[in-house]
Amino acid sequence: MIEDLIRRAADEDDDAIEELGEIAAADPQRLSPYHGALLDLDLLWPATLYRAAGADVVGRVIEQVDGGRTPDRLNHLLLILAHSAHPLAEDALRRWSTHPPAGADDLHVGVLSYAAEGGWTIGPDGNRRDLCADVAHRWVMRDAPASADRSACPWCASPLWVAADLDTTDPAIGAALAHTGWSGRLVVETCHFCACYTTLYSRVTPAGATTWWADNTRPSYLGGDTGPEDPPTLLPVAGPALASPYQASAWNQGGSTLGGRPDWIQDAEHADCPGCGEPMDYVGLIGGADLDEFGEGAYYLHLHQPCGFAAVNYQQS
Ligand SMILES: [Zn+2]
Ligand SMILES: [Zn+2]
Repeated sequence: MIEDLIRRAADEDDDAIEELGEIAAADPQRLSPYHGALLDLDLLWPATLYRAAGADVVGRVIEQVDGGRTPDRLNHLLLILAHSAHPLAEDALRRWSTHPPAGADDLHVGVLSYAAEGGWTIGPDGNRRDLCADVAHRWVMRDAPASADRSACPWCASPLWVAADLDTTDPAIGAALAHTGWSGRLVVETCHFCACYTTLYSRVTPAGATTWWADNTRPSYLGGDTGPEDPPTLLPVAGPALASPYQASAWNQGGSTLGGRPDWIQDAEHADCPGCGEPMDYVGLIGGADLDEFGEGAYYLHLHQPCGFAAVNYQQS
């Protein structure tokens, strides 16, 4: 079956490519025996097909970049290495960050920034840091408890929206947040409307306190003349564990996910922490389709425990 999908994908059959992508999300290892064939056929996209690539295939991709004969494919090859998150890929990205490979001048970002697409980064100490959880739970929407007077967004005056109210004493939540180092209650409050225009930061404490960050910068193009609106009255609660960390969907109903890896609609956008400048840890995704029948786009939640900052950003097609 997979052989057949690969054959069709090589003929640019979009359905086959999508099916391969679904396999790579549900059970990435299933594609491992086929990575060599995919590479032989020059099937480099989507790079997520290569999540479970082993040393052989990662080594071949690195050789191809070092060979410099396909600079036009550098973007795809770097994405493959990022998604593989393989130690060899990590070494190669580090090396190329100071000795850029052929084609690097045409990239929009530095080579090391590609790591973020695979959910990891190289910290200032030179060590790798994984930004995402290896476990994921479906986030199921429930009616939010009636809130006593919520603070209002300083920009648009709408009541702030509680995007998540988590407590690590729940083992499922503790596991999904383990990579962040957070212990206690975490309330992520943001503006449902203004978060669509810029990353909004808040200060958070393990007692569940949350405050709008005074240095959030209002974009000049933000309107706000429509008057206050009510945010959704839904709150996500942790549902069943997912079979893999790659099954969040920014598009489909039921795609909201605590933990695991983000389904970015655009390029990866792990928010940078205002406290230390490093990328924040990823917490989860709330799909617009789960908040509203006609909702679109997705809200991405981030946390940097050492600095006590949470963030929400938003992407749409
Ligand atoms: Zn607002
Ligand atoms: Zn920080």
